[in-house]
Amino acid sequence: MRTHYCGDINETLIDQTVTFCGWVHRRRDHGGVIFLDVRDREGLVQVVFDPDTVEAFNTADSVRSEFVVQITGRVRGRPEGTINDNMKTGQIEVLGKDINILNKAATPPFPLDDYSDVGEDVRLKFRYMDMRRPEMQEKLRFRSKVTTAIRNYMDENGFLDIETPILTRATPEGARDYLVPSRTHEGSFFALPQSPQLFKQLLMVSGFDRYYQIAKCFRDEDLRADRQPEFTQIDIEASFIDEDTIMGLTQDMIKGIFQKELGVDLGDFPQMPYAEAMSKYGSDKPDMRIPMEIVDVAEFLQDIEFKVFAGPAKDPKGRVAALKVPGGAELSRKQIDEYTKYVGIYGAKGLAWIKVNEIEKGIEGLQSPIIKFIGDDNTMKIMEKVDAKNGDIVFFGADKTKVVNEALGALRCKVAEDMNLYTSEWAALWVVDFPMFEENDDGSISALHHPFTAPSCSPEELKANPLEALSRAYDMVLNGVELGGGSIRIHDEAMQETVFEVLGISEEEQREKFGFLLDALKFGAPPHGGLAFGLDRLIMLMTGANSIREVIAFPKTQSAACVMTQAPGIVSNAQLRDLHIKLREKPKAE
Ligand code: ASP
Repeated sequence: MRTHYCGDINETLIDQTVTFCGWVHRRRDHGGVIFLDVRDREGLVQVVFDPDTVEAFNTADSVRSEFVVQITGRVRGRPEGTINDNMKTGQIEVLGKDINILNKAATPPFPLDDYSDVGEDVRLKFRYMDMRRPEMQEKLRFRSKVTTAIRNYMDENGFLDIETPILTRATPEGARDYLVPSRTHEGSFFALPQSPQLFKQLLMVSGFDRYYQIAKCFRDEDLRADRQPEFTQIDIEASFIDEDTIMGLTQDMIKGIFQKELGVDLGDFPQMPYAEAMSKYGSDKPDMRIPMEIVDVAEFLQDIEFKVFAGPAKDPKGRVAALKVPGGAELSRKQIDEYTKYVGIYGAKGLAWIKVNEIEKGIEGLQSPIIKFIGDDNTMKIMEKVDAKNGDIVFFGADKTKVVNEALGALRCKVAEDMNLYTSEWAALWVVDFPMFEENDDGSISALHHPFTAPSCSPEELKANPLEALSRAYDMVLNGVELGGGSIRIHDEAMQETVFEVLGISEEEQREKFGFLLDALKFGAPPHGGLAFGLDRLIMLMTGANSIREVIAFPKTQSAACVMTQAPGIVSNAQLRDLHIKLREKPKAE
């Protein structure tokens, strides 16, 4: 149907006849001459129709935006003064001889020829139109380039691409499962995989040695910002390796992709223990583009009368910490109020602050509503500890450690963004030495990663002191985003049983849910480990998109629905009957 893509027609084709197909991007009538910009995935080309070619002229005159056309014409250089250096095809135009309308188009729901700020709901409802826009085309092409590079890298390093089931049993990764009722097994359900975790481990037991898969995962999570119920992981597992091998291999992959696709050198990835990340940055995925650190100041505040500080300062589960923001003394009352509201999201009950105007004047050079509660002496000691300079503001958090870390950690990132305090464009690192377990608010224990992660200690030590135990897990973090994470796994049955036991999973439940894994560990499971990268997040970071929805062809909304297909949808009674399902209340038909 065509000899060239629109976007590939250039000055090397001058005087040649070409045929191309595409969508009418723009139509202009210039005093008896019709100009069409025709678009395909490679770009735009300008076509001119003279009135002497009567039939073609009349057809060109009748087309409208987004009509699908096939055009034959002769390539010629653009007249002096009409050359467009910003356009791939800007040196030439095509003198149209023939035009064939392949399909008509209704008026588009939003204009595609000029950028317009269309609401996301409309974009998602007409996603196929939205994706005609050059920005979306660009992002998805980029995604394809990256997945190709990943496949090549994996292949070169001996990893086999093996698929794992979508209809399966629950694979716990800390979210709710999506369930699929079985028609053939009344009352039973499949779960969609939260990750291929157990299957990839079983592939190691089978001896495949190195596995990868670009895999869909499904997690029915609460509606946190920028999560998708189905998302894509670069899932990796290898046998007979240690942390250094797998971290090195995957770090080289990510570095290679940044170098090749963006010309960015990510440098060496430092390793930071989890405890340090939490204490200095209030987060297990610290954004290291930001130099600010959170500093403990409880030592100065334990003995004061002011309970808001003294309470958490004395509480072993509490924390009192300061965050110094260079240049922050300029913040207005209103801005500080906004930050106070912001930390409230993370449970902080307030946001105390001290502005540093003239530190050489001592206490007189400071400005704050709280100095009278802290005392002059303590205040000056704190200023010294945080190394306060003129023009700074020092924020305080005092609460349970978890609240302080989350609140000051988030504030650190927010203020850095608002005041542009970044000192580099990219900052990658590994966070290591994670705790094996965390304590929930109700006192129960859950796995910080997943229960198949190997602890760094013996089963006896683990049982004796579960909350002290560290794991052999590692997370790759880039610009404050957790890009990937994984661990060396448990390959020993007794250790796996101990972890289940600590998690309060009874022997019966262990057999019921994970019997196949425990059995497999009996038959010579090799030492193994791996990790998974979030592909959507990786592409988001690399393209500078502000949401993963921008780099997924057909994403769900934040309320986990597809506005285009109207999924999830109501099903017929007959279908429900086949699945042995009776709804408690009949939903009203839409
Ligand atoms: N299965 C883990 C996850 O989805 C990754 C891994 O441990 O390899 O987060």
